[in-house]
Amino acid sequence: MTENRQYRLTQRPTGRVDASTFTLGTSEAPTPGPGEALIRSLYLSIDPTNRIWITDMPQYMPPVQLGEVMRGYGVGQVVSSNTPDLAPGDLVNGMLGWQDFAIAGPANPMQKLPGGLPIPLPALLGVCGATGLTAYFGLTDLGAPKAGETLLVSAASGAVGSVVGQIGKILGMRVVGITGGAEKCRHIVQDLGFDAAVDYRAADWREQLAAATPDGIDVNFENVGGVIMDAVLKRMNLFSRLVLCGLISGYNEGESSPGDFTQLLMKRITVRGFIILDYAPRLGEGAMQLIQWLMAGKLKHQETIVDGLERAPEALKMLFDGEKLGKLMVKVSDPA
Ligand code: NDP
Repeated sequence: MTENRQYRLTQRPTGRVDASTFTLGTSEAPTPGPGEALIRSLYLSIDPTNRIWITDMPQYMPPVQLGEVMRGYGVGQVVSSNTPDLAPGDLVNGMLGWQDFAIAGPANPMQKLPGGLPIPLPALLGVCGATGLTAYFGLTDLGAPKAGETLLVSAASGAVGSVVGQIGKILGMRVVGITGGAEKCRHIVQDLGFDAAVDYRAADWREQLAAATPDGIDVNFENVGGVIMDAVLKRMNLFSRLVLCGLISGYNEGESSPGDFTQLLMKRITVRGFIILDYAPRLGEGAMQLIQWLMAGKLKHQETIVDGLERAPEALKMLFDGEKLGKLMVKVSDPA
């Protein structure tokens, strides 16, 4: 029997995920039926939205139910196949779940990844995957960016934010990032080319924000919400744009401060919330552009890789502790 380790949701957390949230068990690896393929998990993406999925609040997908295998997006490899669309050895991405093996098929479609690209798998999952695409479409389609304008991005050293800032530089913008700690501030400026960084863990972060945005803010790519969004709103310019991508500061508590809405009125700010799934028909186009920039050396990628499926809950906590740089993922196994 081939063993399939699986994390199931056992209790909805209030506040932080803890030892009672998930349970690791084993079952027999599933057998693919007609039109299906057996996929082995290679890398699982660890995303803030994982924390949303285990709440029962209204959301953009059905919540994960108690007793279900934890939902998780990732990159896997075909082990065996009963469909002409997938052959053993092919790489795919899709909803693998927090487990060693998953079934791809009509009930759980997965996308075959192009073979032979000189791009490491973690970068295919990160900068060229869903989080890179979120950055790309959020900024270029909804942010209406213009060269010379000031772009502000929060959670700037993370998976989405680091790509938003780099795309802003490619487009000729002045880019300011907010992140936690001196080393992450150094990283986004010196390694990624941002123009300025604001350390939200420093006592004087509001003064740093004012100093870094002398001409105000034209595009705010919002990843955090709460007091940070409030302070940013006060620096935004007339007729500026707010791309509402995420509100991570409220995910553990289940609510986030809406910020000072007075500023939306006074500054006539356009606010657009979006979910990357809205761009499903255009994902290929976005991935091509990101791959091109990556291969031309215009985009850098950075991952924090946690080794072992058993450490997935621990990895999820790292998103909220800030104990990581770039795209966070769990390595489950090596490709064959
Ligand atoms: P990140 O890689 O950015 O990791 C999360 C980061 O958020 C942490 O590293 C930390 O930054 C920051 N953070 C966490 N809690 C707080 C807090 N209380 N105050 C300030 N900063 C905090 O994650 P992603 O790039 O995957 O996601 C970033 C945002 O984008 C999230 O809000 C997520 O929900 C959203 N998102 C939205 C999508 C969409 O389709 N709309 C798709 C993907 C992501 P630091 O390290 O600087 O301390």
